[in-house]
Amino acid sequence: MFSFADVTRARTVVHQHLPPTPVRSYPALDAAAGATVLVKHEDRQPVGAFKVRGGLTLLAAMSEEDRSRGTVSYSTGNHARSLAYASRIYDAPCTVVMPAAAAPAKAKAIEALGAQVVLHGDDLEAAQRHAEKLAGQSGARLVSPGDTPELLAGVGTLYLEIFEARPDLDAILVPVGSGTGASAATVVARELAPDCRVIGVQSSESRAAHDSWQSGELVQRPNRTRVAGLATGRGYALPQSVMRAGLADFLLVTDDEIAAAQRLLATTADTVAEGAGAAALAGLLSRPDLFAGTRVAVVCTGGNADESELAMLG
Ligand SMILES: *Cc1c(COP(=O)(O)O)cnc(C)c1O
Repeated sequence: MFSFADVTRARTVVHQHLPPTPVRSYPALDAAAGATVLVKHEDRQPVGAFKVRGGLTLLAAMSEEDRSRGTVSYSTGNHARSLAYASRIYDAPCTVVMPAAAAPAKAKAIEALGAQVVLHGDDLEAAQRHAEKLAGQSGARLVSPGDTPELLAGVGTLYLEIFEARPDLDAILVPVGSGTGASAATVVARELAPDCRVIGVQSSESRAAHDSWQSGELVQRPNRTRVAGLATGRGYALPQSVMRAGLADFLLVTDDEIAAAQRLLATTADTVAEGAGAAALAGLLSRPDLFAGTRVAVVCTGGNADESELAMLG
């Protein structure tokens, strides 16, 4: 269903559009963390997040005919932006259903990329049901943010970049929402850096992926985190099936710990991360017993901090 070969194939597409992102180290960050820390900078991508790799891979894999019917998705953030960005490049219609209360700035950012935004329902579940209905009517492809193999393949290319350069890592920490990024990381690590532990990090305020991984079943949990990229209320089947075999550990951190990690990235690494983009570092800081003295990569998955988020960091 999803293999290392899918990731290497996706790289051909991704690198037509995007150069590899930087991997940097910062002495002040190492000192604060008590470890040798490499930061993978997906905050520097177009649309400001790693998900753009998945969107491009999905659109490239669609037939001309499927592209002409376009895609329908549901999201409040980076998943939608990534699909809108890729759909513009591949000249395909793109519709995004968002909960009616979604921040107007988020809808605007997606419309600016040429996609159509439909506001519907009280929450993401209601938006999903409406997206399913629209896809059924129009014949457009319904794109699940988690259970879409092309998205795993595309986002996996970021782990090719890291592990080819640094096969000697002790661990890599990856923030988890639906789990596309973390599951792809396990598949690439198994081939290129088998001694590197792949560790997921989620907010304790939205722990559905963590609890699904731990219990071996797809579970639903309250979804209360203010960290947009990590806000999912259920486990997704495809990434969970991949993470089950490959993830070495899965850490939970609080939203306040994530905010502290955002501040540390700003002050030691010249980096404005959104909350989800700082969650991997928050996981590292939360467990000095696991990471002191080791060589660790943290994936800064995104930089789309909105105005209220920046204000809260003070
Ligand atoms: C979507 C997202 C995540 C979580 O990724 P999944 O593949 O859904 O687990 C983490 N960080 C950012 C910035 C995101 O947009």
